[in-house]
Amino acid sequence: MVFSLSEKLWAEAQQLFPGGVNSPVRSFKSVGGIPFYVSRAKGSKLFDVDGNSYTDYVCSWGALIHGHAHPAVVRSIGETLQDGTSFGANSPLEIKLAQLIRSAMPSIEKIRFVNSGTEACMSAIRIARGFSGREKIIKFEGCYHGHSDSLLVKAGSGALTTGVPDSSGVPSCLSSLTVVLPWNDKPTLLEAFKKYGKETAAVILEPIPANCGLIPPTEGFLECLLSTAKQYGTLVIFDEVITGFRLAMGGAQELFGIQPDLTVLGKIIGGGLPVGAVGGKKEIMDCLSPVGTVYQAGTLSGNPLAMAAGIAQLEQIKKLPTYSQLETLGRQLEAAIEDIQKKLSIPLQFHRFGSMFSFFFTPKKVLSSADAYGVDKKRFSHFFTSLLHSGIFLPPSPYETAFLSTAHSESDIDELAKIVYDTLKKIT
Ligand SMILES: *Cc1c(COP(=O)(O)O)cnc(C)c1O
Repeated sequence: MVFSLSEKLWAEAQQLFPGGVNSPVRSFKSVGGIPFYVSRAKGSKLFDVDGNSYTDYVCSWGALIHGHAHPAVVRSIGETLQDGTSFGANSPLEIKLAQLIRSAMPSIEKIRFVNSGTEACMSAIRIARGFSGREKIIKFEGCYHGHSDSLLVKAGSGALTTGVPDSSGVPSCLSSLTVVLPWNDKPTLLEAFKKYGKETAAVILEPIPANCGLIPPTEGFLECLLSTAKQYGTLVIFDEVITGFRLAMGGAQELFGIQPDLTVLGKIIGGGLPVGAVGGKKEIMDCLSPVGTVYQAGTLSGNPLAMAAGIAQLEQIKKLPTYSQLETLGRQLEAAIEDIQKKLSIPLQFHRFGSMFSFFFTPKKVLSSADAYGVDKKRFSHFFTSLLHSGIFLPPSPYETAFLSTAHSESDIDELAKIVYDTLKKIT
């Protein structure tokens, strides 16, 4: 593969953007090499400026459940565009997308649209604090909820101490209001609630964490969390920015048959345009201005193009046998990887849940972010680069989750399995 035009653009970008990018993981910093520049995308494929093509398992970080430039999504945006790009006033499209979401997720009675998952998580925290009059929040290590101050926090020195900033620029007085707990650890969770529960406004989590690789909850963990939170009057916020509409119309909450107080959405509901949303019980959501005292606003919130893209994508999910098709592809991939693991003895844990998957290069089971941090990063870099040069684009980090879309075919999966096999044979 030749990357000469990408190399030239990368040199220019480094003069313009910190680290050459507008979002850190795109820099390939954790895998090395030069990031490619995309000229166009269609279905399961990305095409770069040098004419290389890739089968894409990033899918805009999960947002594109039907792949790139799906005709129905493109048409919906195109038609809406003829009537203007932003009104600074209400449009019926907001109501239509909200109804689609509410009918899929019964825990959502009222909803507010924002422009990103970060903004939605930040607003959910403020709503929970405003509703409860409490200030502390609990989150889990390895769960990502965007980059707002209260959520960019890592665990302090002990399991039951309050958090410390996970970025410079985050005031320690804010991070000290966030308690960060290990994932899948019931005893620590119970102790933390004993210590902080009564001052805790909300516990926020990805019901199936997918931002430290894919680490599903162990049996009974979510149920324990919900009942404990209830006992202390702490709100439960499900961050379903990834899992919402990816695993089922009703997200992880439908699959597990549980209901949070608030739900955060993003990615898929925007159809590839910038959208986030926070929704939940009426009496909690009505804390928001203009009815309530929790302030929140947005110039482009409910933007007609973004709403149109989201509506089209959600309607396609309903129209197609989306989840059975994704499950079939996921099973095919899982079987192929299991076969490879039998043939080659390699310290690899492959996790899959529906259309989400990740590779952990470690001999040990991965149940928490601490386990994930123990992976062989160098081996992942080799793996990533070798796949890329064979025309496969995986997330450029050992701590991100890969995605399937309905645009992927059985032959895409066969191709992926073959290249994974050839690569692992080479790097073992
Ligand atoms: C991507 C993501 C966010 C942040 O969304 P942005 O649109 O990138 O701000 C929040 N939570 C989860 C679980 C995510 O995966």
